[in-house]
Amino acid sequence: MIESLRVTKGRKVRLAARSTDATLGLTDKAQARQELEKILADISELQTRLHASRAAGVLVVVQAMDAGGKDGAVRGLHGGLNPTGVRVVSFKVPIGRETEQDYLWRVHAECARKGEIVLFNRSHYEDVLVVRVHEFVPKEQWEKRYRHIANFEEMLADEGTEIIKIFLHISMDEQRIRQQERIDIPDKNWKFRAGDLKDRERWDDFMTAYEDAINKTSTPSAPWYVVPADRKWVRDVAVATILRHHLRQIDPQYPPNPEVVPGMKVL
Ligand code: ADP
Repeated sequence: MIESLRVTKGRKVRLAARSTDATLGLTDKAQARQELEKILADISELQTRLHASRAAGVLVVVQAMDAGGKDGAVRGLHGGLNPTGVRVVSFKVPIGRETEQDYLWRVHAECARKGEIVLFNRSHYEDVLVVRVHEFVPKEQWEKRYRHIANFEEMLADEGTEIIKIFLHISMDEQRIRQQERIDIPDKNWKFRAGDLKDRERWDDFMTAYEDAINKTSTPSAPWYVVPADRKWVRDVAVATILRHHLRQIDPQYPPNPEVVPGMKVL
């Protein structure tokens, strides 16, 4: 499953050609739930090892169009992660000092420490996505950012961060359904923002910006995954599978403790 979702350098991804509603071999919600439980149990064990060994930091970047399921995807990992050792960071419109520094400043400050898993709900990629589409800065400025980002991520990887980048891929139709629910269902009203409809009008431009970002910054040490996300149960299994794969790559081991003398008794 993993390989079919990963974007490999040299093979350009075209989002229109990538499925948003694939089932990835899963049969139904119930079976996906069972599968997810197993993967989360593995993640739980691996996270404990990661925390104990401080072998690496893990940075998971989650990006999507509005209503693409970023919050849901993070929630989907919940059962597998011990809150000690996990942080979720949400990036909003820059404010205060963030507007006075370079765009990577606030991002770098939140990157994963050794032993920690950090989930980015939006990220530095906003600076080549929404910023590009709405022309918040001129092209001469944003077009250099792919290089900055690739270099920045290479540095993080070289210094011990495992980087995983996930694009939750939904169809325009699925977004309409979800946005309509935010209007029609009172308990979902709080999620609605008029600005989201403006972004929807620019769907094609966002897809082009996503394609460019993914194609220009997918590297072996910081790969992108395009996850079909119309079905939430498929999305959750896919995201958990990707995280487990990377934790297994790190292969953290419990460290030996010289203070433990075999056979010693606690009185
Ligand atoms: P979310 O949609 O992630 O649940 P919000 O509704 O608060 O959270 O939206 C956050 C907004 O911040 C989004 O519209 C996003 O495009 C915007 N944003 C994030 N980073 C930047 C940035 N660097 N520049 C401009 N806008 C940004």
